[in-house]
Amino acid sequence: MSRIFNFSAGPAMLPAEVLARAADELLDWHGTGMSVMEMSHRGKEFIAIYEEAERDLRELLGVPANYKILFLQGGATLQFAQVPMNLLGGKAAADYVVSGQWSKKAAKEAQKYCDVGIAASSEDRNFTYAPKAWNVRPDAAYVHYCSNETIGGVEYHAVPSHGAVPLVADMSSHFLSRPVDVSKYGLIYAGAQKNAGPAGLTFVIVREDLVGQAAKGTPSVMDYKAQADAQSMLNTPSTYALYIAGLVFKWLKQQGGLAAMEKANLEKASLLYDFLDASAFFANPVAKEDRSRMNVPFTLRDPKLDEAFLKGAAQAGMVQLKGHRSVGGMRASIYNAMPLEGVRTLVEYMRDFERRHG
Ligand SMILES: *Cc1c(COP(=O)(O)O)cnc(C)c1O
Repeated sequence: MSRIFNFSAGPAMLPAEVLARAADELLDWHGTGMSVMEMSHRGKEFIAIYEEAERDLRELLGVPANYKILFLQGGATLQFAQVPMNLLGGKAAADYVVSGQWSKKAAKEAQKYCDVGIAASSEDRNFTYAPKAWNVRPDAAYVHYCSNETIGGVEYHAVPSHGAVPLVADMSSHFLSRPVDVSKYGLIYAGAQKNAGPAGLTFVIVREDLVGQAAKGTPSVMDYKAQADAQSMLNTPSTYALYIAGLVFKWLKQQGGLAAMEKANLEKASLLYDFLDASAFFANPVAKEDRSRMNVPFTLRDPKLDEAFLKGAAQAGMVQLKGHRSVGGMRASIYNAMPLEGVRTLVEYMRDFERRHG
């Protein structure tokens, strides 16, 4: 078996240990004679898997007791709509920080439901920094931001001041990459497929007092309260994805939890950024203090060399380095499951490429 260094932004690499364990258990989970895929979501085996996953996630992130953890479907994109449907609570306005393509999409979707105010934007400089002076209207139901912009590679390393208005964060692409003070948030959501599991599963962590005010006409499966009351099993949840995410949580605990992951992620990101900064051939456009530890976009001095760069990388066992179509160039996504060795291999390859073409 050979494993490749996969720099995809998502779906992305999962820890090899997790996949190996899932393979071991694929046909017969713990002597039940069936796969997790074949289990009733109401049976005691699956309920145990679900409860353990929830417990582990709560422990990893230090989720306070007055927050619900929901395991939903529809991706982060559905949350762009589900958040206003559930959190407006009769108010007419919500504010959005626009720091990249994803938060821009979230703001646009919310316009279907309310008056959207732009609390801050970095579009003036092509989304290359994280705007920190937020202008939040006191009558806004919440303020939404994307704490790690996957496409632009822009990450908030601290929470800007936002008044008393509940804070909502799309954490899809750096969820579980570092410790987070959940109590600062009204709601956190993340699609699993970037850093925490397979596609088809979405995490929503929401403060209890914000649950139970869904707008009239909200479908039941999209009503946080209906889902919270049903332990996320109002209908059949994404059972297999939830099981794999549970294995990822166990793996994270074995690595030493989120503080240890942060340390490892910092080491990987520094290795790559230090190389980029020292190079006259490669460049990263993002303001230094706002650079993402997870998604590292970079350009070559001459875009005509892009193709040769990608081809050589693939030959050296590194794939999915092509940048997002909206920004071009390259992008290396280096989530939790990317080993340090993968980043070292990439930097060595880049050094060599520069020597040959620079
Ligand atoms: C990938 C991504 C999304 C969209 O996720 P889907 O699961 O495809 O809906 C939204 N926000 C961020 C920050 C992302 O990285």
